Amino acid sequence: MLYDCAVAKCRSYSEEDVSRAFDDILPPVGGLDWVKKGMRIVIKPNLVSAMRPDAAATTHPALLKELCRRLTERGATVLIGDSPGGFFTVAAMNAVYSATGLNELERDGVALNRNVDYHTVDIDGQVMKKLTYTNYLDEADAIIDFAKLKSHGMVGMSGAVKNLFGVIPGLMKPETHYVYPDVSDFCNMLIDINEHFKPRLTLIDAVVGMEGNGPTAGTPRRIGALIAARTTYHADAVGARLIGMAPEGVPTIVEAAKRSLSPMNVEDIKLCGSLEGLIVGDFKTVPRKSIRFLQGTKFRFVQKVIADCLTHKPRPVNKLCMGCGKCERLCPAHAIEMRHGHPHIDRKKCIRCFCCQEFCPKAAMIVSRPLVMRALQRTK
Ligand code: SF4
Ligand code: SF4
Repeated sequence: MLYDCAVAKCRSYSEEDVSRAFDDILPPVGGLDWVKKGMRIVIKPNLVSAMRPDAAATTHPALLKELCRRLTERGATVLIGDSPGGFFTVAAMNAVYSATGLNELERDGVALNRNVDYHTVDIDGQVMKKLTYTNYLDEADAIIDFAKLKSHGMVGMSGAVKNLFGVIPGLMKPETHYVYPDVSDFCNMLIDINEHFKPRLTLIDAVVGMEGNGPTAGTPRRIGALIAARTTYHADAVGARLIGMAPEGVPTIVEAAKRSLSPMNVEDIKLCGSLEGLIVGDFKTVPRKSIRFLQGTKFRFVQKVIADCLTHKPRPVNKLCMGCGKCERLCPAHAIEMRHGHPHIDRKKCIRCFCCQEFCPKAAMIVSRPLVMRALQRTK
C-alpha cells in the first residue's frame, strides 16, 4: 500500500539509527525504485547559514550522506545545492559547505553546487507570476526536498514547504518578502514555488529540531524522528503535529488545505508509522493567533490596536548586538536604522518578515511576543 507520508523513530545521527529510519520511511512512500541509472538528482537541504550541524539550523550531514549513498548505489548522480541568506557567491557557499559538514560528502563523490547563476521564468502561480531561481536546479531530472524542522518567526514553522524558498538566490529573498508582506500571500507564493518544482520526494530531519528563536538563533531540541512524504504539504502536516503545533497555527498548511493540496488534519493523511511517543508537546514555537474575529469590527482604529497587541514583532536585544548593521542592510522595508550603534525599528514600516532575526549573526534580534499573548499562554 502506498502512503502519503511515513514517520519513524530516529533517536540519533548514528549510522545505525539513520539507516534503520530510512529503511522504515522510504518503502511506504514508494521507495527509490523510480531512481534509474544515469539520473541526475538534486537534493535541496536547508543550508540557511554557515552553521555547525549541532546548532540544528541545517539538515544534518549524516542524513544527507545516507540518502546520497542510497541514490548513488542505484547509479544516479547527486548534486546538493541551496542558496542561503546573504550573498550567493562561491566563497559564501564554500563557507556554508565547510561549516555544515557537507565537505565530507564531496570527498565521498557527491557534487556540491558552486554554480551561482540564476534566471527568471514566467510561472502560472496563484500569486507569483515570475520566479527567479538558481540555475543548478535545472540540472535535475528529479528534486528531493530535505528540510529541517524548526520554529519560524513569520510562518510559525520551517519545514518542507518553506525550505523551497531557498531556490531564490541569496539577497533576492528579502526583496521577495517585501513583494508579499501579507502572510497568506507569502505562503501562497511558497506554495507556487512548491508547485513549480514538485519535488519527487520530501524528507524532514526531525531528529534534532530547533525551538524558540528559530530558524537560526533558537535552541536545539531532540524530537527523534525522520519523515518521508510524497508531497511537501503532507510532510509539513506531520512535522507540525510532531512539535505540537495546531494546523491552524501554520499558515502554509492552512493555505495548502484551501488549495486542496493536503488535508488540514494529520488524521486525514494516509500516514505509515505511529506518532505516539514522538510528539514533543512542549516544543517552543512562536504562537500565531488568528485575528479573523476582528474582521467585522466597525472601528478600524480599535481593530488595528487589538491586532497590534496580538502580533509578534522583531526586537533587538542591545546587550547582544555588536552593531554590525547587517539587519539594516538586509531589511527589505528599510524599517531599520542604526542609531548609536544599535538598530532602531520603525514599526510603521516593518512588514514582519523576520529577515533581520533570521540573519543576525549574534542572535541579537529576537521574536518578541506581545504581553497579551504571553499572559494568554500562561493562562493556558
Ligand atoms: S544584525 Fe544583529 S548584531 Fe548586527 S546590528 Fe543587527 S541586531 Fe545587531
Ligand atoms: S525590521 Fe525586520 S521584520 Fe521588519 S521588515 Fe525589516 S527585516 Fe523584516
